[in-house]
Amino acid sequence: MKREFAVIGLGRFGGSICRELSSEGMEVLAIDTEEDKVNEFKNIASHAVIADATDEKVLKELGIRNIDHVIVAIGDNIQASILTTLMLKELGIKKITVKAQNDYHEKVLNKIGADQVVHPERDMGKRIAHSIISNNILDHLELSDEHSIVEVKAGARMSGKTLIDLDIRAQYGCNVVAIKPINKKEINVSPMATEVINKGDILIVIGADKDISRFEKQLVVDDE
Ligand code: ATP
Repeated sequence: MKREFAVIGLGRFGGSICRELSSEGMEVLAIDTEEDKVNEFKNIASHAVIADATDEKVLKELGIRNIDHVIVAIGDNIQASILTTLMLKELGIKKITVKAQNDYHEKVLNKIGADQVVHPERDMGKRIAHSIISNNILDHLELSDEHSIVEVKAGARMSGKTLIDLDIRAQYGCNVVAIKPINKKEINVSPMATEVINKGDILIVIGADKDISRFEKQLVVDDE
C-alpha cells in the first residue's frame, strides 16, 4: 500500500521534499497559501491545494486525519508553524516532521510533540564545516546533542596499521563500526580488531563529539 504524505509550505525546502516523495511514487498532498506555489506543484504532487494550514476547519476538510505523515515546512512565519503543528497533533496525526527556523522554535516544537524537528540550514552548515576542516572528513552526522557518526578517509597516519595498533576505542573512546576498503565494493560491517587499514579506506566511526573531535585532529587530519 502506498504511504500518504502531506507537505505544508512549498518553499525551497517543502518543495524539494514534495518533489522527492512524488518521484519515489508516494501519494503527496501539497498545501500552500500562495496560488503560484500550488500551481507549480499541480503536476508533481497527487493533489495540490491552496489553503491556510492554521485554519483547523480547513485541515479537517482536507482529510488530513487520514494522512500518515505530515511535513510542516512553513518558513519564516514561526507562529503559523507552531499553530499548525499543535493542531496536527490534536488531530492525532501519527507522524509530524517540522522545519525549525531557530533554536527557540525547535524547543517549542519539541515541547508540543513534533515527532521530528529538522533544522536543515544549521545541520548542513555543521556538516560542511567538518568536511572543510579536513579533506579526510567526508561526512558528519549528529545523532544527539553529544554524539555523532562520522565518515572519514584513512590517511598515512592510519595506513598499514590494524585497529589493535591504532587502539581507537581505548585511546579515543570511539568505535569503528564499518570500513569501506578502498579496493573493494563490499562494506566490512563490524570489522575485526586485526583488520589492516589502508590509505584511502573509509571508516564509519561513532562516538561522543569531544572524542570524535580528538580522533579527527590526531588521526584523521590531512597528513600528506
Ligand atoms: P527556503 O525557501 O529558504 O527553504 P522555506 O522553505 O523555509 O525557505 P519559505 O520560502 O518562506 O520557507 O516557504 C514557506 C512556504 O510556506 C511559503 O510558500 C508560504 O506561502 C507557505 N506558508 C506560509 N504560511 C502558511 C500557512 N499558514 N499555510 C500554508 N502555507 C503557508
